[in-house]
Amino acid sequence: MSKQVPEISLPFPYSLCHQCEGLKLIYTKKQTIYMMCMLREERYFSQPIRQCGAFVAKKTNEEQAEQGE
Ligand code: SF4
Repeated sequence: MSKQVPEISLPFPYSLCHQCEGLKLIYTKKQTIYMMCMLREERYFSQPIRQCGAFVAKKTNEEQAEQGE
């Protein structure tokens, strides 16, 4: 029997951060998700982010495969 994983929807799904390499999602035991930025000195921002000077587009699966990641 497979273990059921609860479905948690991502916060601010339209935030630019979800398309950025810098986003790290922090999951808590209480099923809260924090959005942490790894590219800027300040780690947490008011969401949703619409524009960001530090934005780096996430690599596609094909790009990751080409680079052996
Ligand atoms: S660099 Fe900007 S867009 Fe990318 S995760 Fe950080 S705040 Fe979001």
